[in-house]
Amino acid sequence: MKKSIWIFLLAVLLPSIALGWLALRSAEEQQIILEKRTAELYQTETENAATAARALIDGERRAFNEVVRQLLTDRDPQKLANTFSTELAKEWQRKAIGFALGKEGQICAPPPKQAASNPEWSKFLLGNGAWLAGTTPATVYWVSGNELNRPEQLRQKRGGNYDVQQSAQPQAANQKEQAASEPAGKDAPPAEKSAGFNQSDTGDNKQTLARNVEPQQVFNTAALSQLMSSTADFRALTSDTNEGVITRFVQDQLDIIFWLRPAQAPEMVFGCLIDSDNLRDLWPAALRTQEENTGSRYASRSQPEFVLALLDDKARPIATQPPGEAGRDWKRPFVASEIGEALPHWEAALYLQRPEQVRESAKALRRTLTFLIATALGAIACGGWLVVADARRQLALAQQKTDFVSNVSHELKTPLTSIRMFAELMQNGNGTTAKHPQYLRIIMVEAERLTRLINNVLDFAGLERKQKRFEKKPLDLHAVIGRAWEGHALHLQESGFSTRWEAAPAPYPVVGDEDALAQILVNLLSNAEKYAGERKEVELHTYLDGAHVCVSVLDRGCGVHDGEERKIFEAFYRAHDSLSSGIQGSGLGLTLAQRLAHEHGGEITYQPREGGGSNFTLRLPLAKQLPIV
Ligand code: ADP
Repeated sequence: MKKSIWIFLLAVLLPSIALGWLALRSAEEQQIILEKRTAELYQTETENAATAARALIDGERRAFNEVVRQLLTDRDPQKLANTFSTELAKEWQRKAIGFALGKEGQICAPPPKQAASNPEWSKFLLGNGAWLAGTTPATVYWVSGNELNRPEQLRQKRGGNYDVQQSAQPQAANQKEQAASEPAGKDAPPAEKSAGFNQSDTGDNKQTLARNVEPQQVFNTAALSQLMSSTADFRALTSDTNEGVITRFVQDQLDIIFWLRPAQAPEMVFGCLIDSDNLRDLWPAALRTQEENTGSRYASRSQPEFVLALLDDKARPIATQPPGEAGRDWKRPFVASEIGEALPHWEAALYLQRPEQVRESAKALRRTLTFLIATALGAIACGGWLVVADARRQLALAQQKTDFVSNVSHELKTPLTSIRMFAELMQNGNGTTAKHPQYLRIIMVEAERLTRLINNVLDFAGLERKQKRFEKKPLDLHAVIGRAWEGHALHLQESGFSTRWEAAPAPYPVVGDEDALAQILVNLLSNAEKYAGERKEVELHTYLDGAHVCVSVLDRGCGVHDGEERKIFEAFYRAHDSLSSGIQGSGLGLTLAQRLAHEHGGEITYQPREGGGSNFTLRLPLAKQLPIV
């Protein structure tokens, strides 16, 4: 048995536990993958918003170029340069300050001489004059026109400097504040004129920046900005292309500068400076594009899954989708993408309406799996336990059957030996003939014992195979008991027993098979005899109890041990085994008696008798009619 438990543990339970553990681990991995996939999906949303914002800036730049080209039609570039600020204000509805640089790089517009009369011009010149004229470098974020929408390519083209140069320790997280504090570039750190973009790009005065937001999910780039700030003068920045966008922070304010070298006068520069506040009307369009792309998410649900926002350099929402969202921790989006050099430090950020949802669905998957695995393991354990218990039962039954064979053989042998011995005594004429009646009685008793045993075995086999036939008819149980008691009581008395039958008045009408009912009583009486012990006393009580008739066989023997009251009715079960008790038996007497009682709609129960001994009671239903005699 121990061996089969070990086999079960090693071959079934342990592999099942291992498999369950593996399944849970894979569920955990699935959870991580699921979270990553979800985050990647949302990252695409912010990337698209960032691209849309860049495209909008680019659109504005193109609009500016168009205005300049139109102004230059049939005009001398030099003449236009002198009046460019005024002309641009007239021709372009965008609020911008136009500027123009002459062939030598001198500022033609706004005209420095007339700046005093126009506070905006003088402010512009104060903030940008020295830088535009190329005398002072300033911190800028540079984008050339044709690369505006493709910052990734830009980075690759520059040999991956943006990524390679980023350090884990952001040195100038607030680089823009530094730049902002530069009073109009005049007090900017002195730098050589050649300290243009190219030089800074090779790493000399580049600064790695920290991001304004801390996305909960980051891919590859971690929390560091992809942006690099550079110290450069305007001329260096604009030397190798014909048009572009430059962004600068001046006094904590983001200025966007569009510039163009007209084909007619490539050595001149026409440009304009737009305060980022003046582009506010653009941004909802960047997010609206997302709404169109992912229309179903917004349109089909009353509560969208996420909020998309465009954050400015101070992580303040400039536009949100759905519009009017407020009151959240804007610095902690789920995912975010930088807009790039076109709008440095600006971010397209996404906030989950129910941040716990991603985890919840993964957790639910894990919970379900844990439950299924636990159930499966439980089922395996229960199944295993049942198999082991059944195997145990089968083993016990096999053992009982073996015992039964030896018990029956022994029970057959004992009366046969007696019968043979006394028959031989009579045949040989040993002893006086006066003893012959006694010998004959012994032979008869032993023969009866043999018959009873053989009947029990045959009846049990018949019942097992459902082949036993009963001839049931209405009869008086009192009469049946009387006949069986008569023969058995005599035998008991001869064996030194005191006997008593306490009977309620007859008749006890029942419907049954007379032989079967008599066999029940004989089995109970012979057990009372066998297990009587020292106090040889057998009593029979018959009485009516409501709609039942009860037949109790009582003795003063050792009784049945606690916990065995039910087992004694199981086939082959012997509470007193032959070896220790010396009492012969097959373990079938009570089983058969109980089955016969059941066949008659009754039952046999055991109760310890008051004052010691056993009380086996047969309870049968009374028939409505008396038997016809
Ligand atoms: P057996 O042939 O062993 O007597 P039974 O089926 O008749 O088989 O009885 C089953 C077990 O019940 C016996 O082995 C014995 O331990 C117990 N038993 C039956 N009758 C009595 C009794 N009158 N007193 C005590 N124990 C009894």
